[in-house]
Amino acid sequence: MLNPDVQSNGMELPTCQSCGRQDETLRLAAYPFVVSVVFMTFQRQFSGLWCSRHRIGYWLQAALITSIIGWLGFPFGLVFAPFRLFQLMGGGIQPAEANSELLRRLGEKKIQEGNSAAAIKCFEASLQYMDVPEVRERLQRLYAMQARGEAPNRLKRYSLYLGVIIAFSILGQLAGAADYLLSYFVGGIVTSTNLILVILLWTPTVTMIFLSISLLRCVLEWAARFTQQTSVFPLLVVGISTLLFFIYNVMTGESFADFLVFVMWGEGYDSQIDTIVSASLIFFLGGVDYVYYLFTVGQAWAMIQGGILLVSLVAGIVTLWKKAYGWARWQTLLRSLQGPQWNRNVEF
Ligand SMILES: [Zn+2]
Repeated sequence: MLNPDVQSNGMELPTCQSCGRQDETLRLAAYPFVVSVVFMTFQRQFSGLWCSRHRIGYWLQAALITSIIGWLGFPFGLVFAPFRLFQLMGGGIQPAEANSELLRRLGEKKIQEGNSAAAIKCFEASLQYMDVPEVRERLQRLYAMQARGEAPNRLKRYSLYLGVIIAFSILGQLAGAADYLLSYFVGGIVTSTNLILVILLWTPTVTMIFLSISLLRCVLEWAARFTQQTSVFPLLVVGISTLLFFIYNVMTGESFADFLVFVMWGEGYDSQIDTIVSASLIFFLGGVDYVYYLFTVGQAWAMIQGGILLVSLVAGIVTLWKKAYGWARWQTLLRSLQGPQWNRNVEF
């Protein structure tokens, strides 16, 4: 299933299995998932050839199945679920050689159809998987005819990066608050020693953090392409600081929701001023308070919660680190294929 014969020189090029689309977003992909039932754990995968729109659906199914019921098996669920989630966080399995070849052939087809804009997109995508001299050459000729758009200037770039950091900070606050309210309303089972129930309580946290970090990976890939970022340093700085802000704000969101519940129960402060001052302090410093709380409360769930946040942070950093190098290398390669010398010398 994963390796349809894309090498063959058949007339028909593969299309999206779901909608028949044939564009630069087409990929061969596999999304592994884990299903656990108490002492049994199964691993399966969705695999096929899909456009971006239909890949997301399978990715999401695999991710939700794994993060919600993948853990619920002893002992292998607890081993395979995090491993598969880490794989899915990076975008699942996309064989480099097959995808590079598929996109090259798609690019050739677009040239034959006279659609050079679409061909450029296919060849660019092909080079993201593998640096093939033949594809380079094709793309160089196409760039000579149709120059690549200007990269946005420094101000626009930095505003975009700042926007990403702010957006994910807000997302973190919301995730933290949602997590707090969930545990608050099912608070009775927090003290339970039943492993399955304990896991059921951590799955919303893990799912929300996992989805957010995966979204960050997509946003950063888009940003790297949009800004034509050839240097890895800004990508790493933006990626890792966004992650740190995100995780910190998850903790702040937990504190803030706790504060809101406290105020809403009518146990507020003497004056409105006090309430507003406390609210703004917690809105920014609640994360520090939460870390202190996790360390001092002396309960198993606090250690699990702290562990989840720490492991998510590390998994996010490793994923973004690996990806950022790939994106910068890719954009450097594309940059090297354009340039004034080609506008002068190459005839197509
Ligand atoms: Zn499709």
